[in-house]
Amino acid sequence: MAYEELSALLGGWEGFMIAAVRREPTSTTQPVPRVVIVLEPVPSRPKRCSRCDGEVVTVHEVTTRRVRDLPLMDAETWIEFPRARVECPRCGPTVEAVPWLDRYQRMTTRLAAAIARLAQVLPIKHVAQWFGVGWETVKQIDQRALEARLGPIDLRDVRLIAIDEFAIHRGHRYATVVVNPLTRKVLWVGRGRAREDLRPFFAQLGPEGCARLEAAVMDMSGAYADEVRAHCPHAAIVYDLFHVVAKYGREVIDRVRVDETNRVAGRAVGRERVRRAQRRIIKGARWLLLRNRDTVTRPADRIRLRDLLAANRALFTVYVLKDDLKQLWRFRYPGAARRFWAQWRRRALASRLAPLRAFVRRLTPYLEGIISHCRYPLHTSVLEGINNKIKVIKRMAYGFRDDAYFFLKIRAAFPGIP
Ligand SMILES: [Zn+2]
Repeated sequence: MAYEELSALLGGWEGFMIAAVRREPTSTTQPVPRVVIVLEPVPSRPKRCSRCDGEVVTVHEVTTRRVRDLPLMDAETWIEFPRARVECPRCGPTVEAVPWLDRYQRMTTRLAAAIARLAQVLPIKHVAQWFGVGWETVKQIDQRALEARLGPIDLRDVRLIAIDEFAIHRGHRYATVVVNPLTRKVLWVGRGRAREDLRPFFAQLGPEGCARLEAAVMDMSGAYADEVRAHCPHAAIVYDLFHVVAKYGREVIDRVRVDETNRVAGRAVGRERVRRAQRRIIKGARWLLLRNRDTVTRPADRIRLRDLLAANRALFTVYVLKDDLKQLWRFRYPGAARRFWAQWRRRALASRLAPLRAFVRRLTPYLEGIISHCRYPLHTSVLEGINNKIKVIKRMAYGFRDDAYFFLKIRAAFPGIP
């Protein structure tokens, strides 16, 4: 094979040509075969400055460098080449430009690019093993590639945001994520989940950005609403249906069910067998009561739910009120939503069920945020999906303690749907 053909096949190394090739056999310390390609400079080609790319003539000294390149067939591949220290008339003493050499790592740019590509889909540990490089090297390459691709955070067009928290380490380290609820683009990620942890986001958004923000959707339990109000007093806080209904399930349905189970068990009248059967029905019905009515499809389950509600007045009441509460998110006119709420509230209070009355009291301060849904029909369900994917990223990045890198990975995973 002619040299040119071979060189074209290998992709070549600009400014250099192959002087020699050797293949080192495997040994106990070198389980993978190794190929060393020795390069020499193309004689006619002038050297260039690595800083300004201008031509340089004066060479101070030449040292031999060894860097990794992509593997050739089954072999780990190393490039050996002379690197000149030069005197640039504009920049002073420096090294010659080698266009195919990665700037920070002891490898070629194409190997670094391959590592960055693989790191998008595989855990760092696996990429490091595959290429036979260090864990830290892969992480740095991936981080650099992500920074170059994503660029600085751009909040110029942000008018709507969804805010949520997620766990970094199970139970004790948290982070806050801000997402565009329409495009699912992750706008910002910061450490912590307290009110002040959201402050850097608004600092980055700036006064004009704060003035532009129209609405923020979030979960009722978080501390974020006050911080949004402090920076964007005109912006609407929107509470999502999903969390309100989940709260209703936990605080009303679940408690009424427990109360009713105990009440039936403690009742002095009635035949023992009937009481026991009734108690069993209520006790085992948690999932049936908390599920969305539309998702109860098995005929046996539907019959069971019907019987359960028919037999127990309290459970029937809270169940019907749950279905009705959901209607609140269907309104598009705040006035109509407010009238509906007043009516729902009256019915809830009239029930005399303590958990239901307590729920009404606790929900009332959030009412404005629920009514805001009429104007900004936003949902935090987008965040549920993001939270699940964050868990996967966390697993893939197993072992790292670098928040900045982790947050870059999250931003990269949610570039947004244009
Ligand atoms: Zn220069």
